[in-house]
Amino acid sequence: TLGRMMDYPLTIGHLLARAEQYFGRTEIVSVFPDRSKRRSTYAQFVERSRRLASALQKLGVRPGDRVATFSWNHGAHLEAYFAVPAMGAVVHTLNIRLSPSEIGYIADHAGDVVVIVDQCLLPLFDKFRANIRSLRHVIVYPDKGEPVFEGMLDYEQLLAESSPEFVWPELGENDAAMLCYTSGTTGNPKGVLYSHRSTVLHALVAALPNLIGCSIDDIVLPVVPMFHAAAWGLPFIAVLSGAKIVFPGPHLDAASLLELMASEKVTVAGGVPTIWLGILAALDSEKGKYDLSSVRTMVIGGAAAPVSLIDGFQSRHGLVVTHAWGMTETNPLGTLARVKPHLRAANGAAPSTELAARATQGFAAPFFETRHIDADGHVLPWDGASMGELEVRGAWVASSYFGDEGQDRFTKDGWFKTGDVVTIDAEGYITITDREKDVIKSGGEWISSVSIENALMSHPAVLEAAVFAAHHPKWLERPVAAVVFKPGAKATEEELTQHLRAKDISKIALPDAYVFPTQIPRTSTGKFLKSKLRELYGKVLES
Ligand code: ADP
Repeated sequence: TLGRMMDYPLTIGHLLARAEQYFGRTEIVSVFPDRSKRRSTYAQFVERSRRLASALQKLGVRPGDRVATFSWNHGAHLEAYFAVPAMGAVVHTLNIRLSPSEIGYIADHAGDVVVIVDQCLLPLFDKFRANIRSLRHVIVYPDKGEPVFEGMLDYEQLLAESSPEFVWPELGENDAAMLCYTSGTTGNPKGVLYSHRSTVLHALVAALPNLIGCSIDDIVLPVVPMFHAAAWGLPFIAVLSGAKIVFPGPHLDAASLLELMASEKVTVAGGVPTIWLGILAALDSEKGKYDLSSVRTMVIGGAAAPVSLIDGFQSRHGLVVTHAWGMTETNPLGTLARVKPHLRAANGAAPSTELAARATQGFAAPFFETRHIDADGHVLPWDGASMGELEVRGAWVASSYFGDEGQDRFTKDGWFKTGDVVTIDAEGYITITDREKDVIKSGGEWISSVSIENALMSHPAVLEAAVFAAHHPKWLERPVAAVVFKPGAKATEEELTQHLRAKDISKIALPDAYVFPTQIPRTSTGKFLKSKLRELYGKVLES
């Protein structure tokens, strides 16, 4: 027998209607390229979203069409995030940090018909716009306040001339809402097509206190770009909750972010570790300059958050880090390191036990499952030691890619192969030891680069460290560490190795060599780019 309850679709349009009905006075703050701040409200956001939908409809955008954004994080980007899916089209967030040829490939592959582009990004956009064969209209968001060129539409003018009366259509919850591409660190970038249902369920679950947690009392700062995995869903989580949102625009340096967190009294911020490494260094060197007493948590994900980073924020500044794991393919949040009561120092556990739990990638959200598999395809035990590839399934996990590529990542029995190598402990906490392509295969052993990096980054002189596989005549691969010191600090190779020994790094995992670049190369989403390190230094052990 079926339950006798209504079949009520989970759609983004509902979140918009709710935002207007209940949270009209909630504030949205955007920082512009010239550092001026623009303040608006949810009421204005929803009215402008209706105007945007009217305008897009008039321009011929039909259900299912892809409307792309080429933008920093700001209030107008939020309008596209909601208006486009709510009108039945698909919002496609283009990653501004990829190379022009990659962005052009992605926009063309996606079949984007309209691109909404920040005026300050037009020079970059011009380098690939000709590659988008499906492109019909370019709408420029005038963030520089200059007149918009002929042949392009002015976002503000378009909204001013469009009707605020747009009625959101009734959509199915499984309709497509948003298209995000992976950055393609392996092969061509692949598109992941989120549905209304996956986006709404993800936001609902992420807003639970066991995950990020969000309510009307929160003030959310998405540092993670809205062009990277939907800014981890933070815009949806915030609007669902009626939380104030603070958008940093293009100003992502530590001083600007710290000033913004303090002045807007941010409670929840989210970003990749490289952002937080800079912020911790700034806090350490200018103790007491910023009042961060409003901050409840800083969500860190996208790459492994070093233990020293989590510990440094907590022990030196009283700031709590929440470590989370996710992928573009998982909408994106999958697991989060909430510390279970019996693992907390306050309840009698050893402080090192609590810190170790915080430093894992956490355990799975409800309606999300994890397992790991050995090279022969056997499911491994949750013993905290067996290493294998993480596979996931759940209510917001991709079931296939948008396009033909990469379909071998989906198993016959309904799981998605993440390409991450993990251990899972008896409590379900997963620890990522590497991405499959970054694992160092030394002789017959697998060496985890992440644990060596963690140990290196706990050295007081080290700002950043990335460990990668260099070719070795005898062992095939051996670890080499790229280390960047904090300003004015230094350590010898011998001191670094001593430190690793003291941190229990096994002899076989000690790096064979160190290299000292001025900065660790990064991917478009701010992660350490190990393929570049291998390209630059992969032969250092050969001579
Ligand atoms: P890409 O990095 O290829 O652009 P994503 O942004 O979707 O794609 O990144 C997903 C990957 O990021 C995961 O497969 C994993 O390797 C890595 N990742 C995400 N969060 C974490 C984390 N907390 N710790 C370690 N790795 C992480």
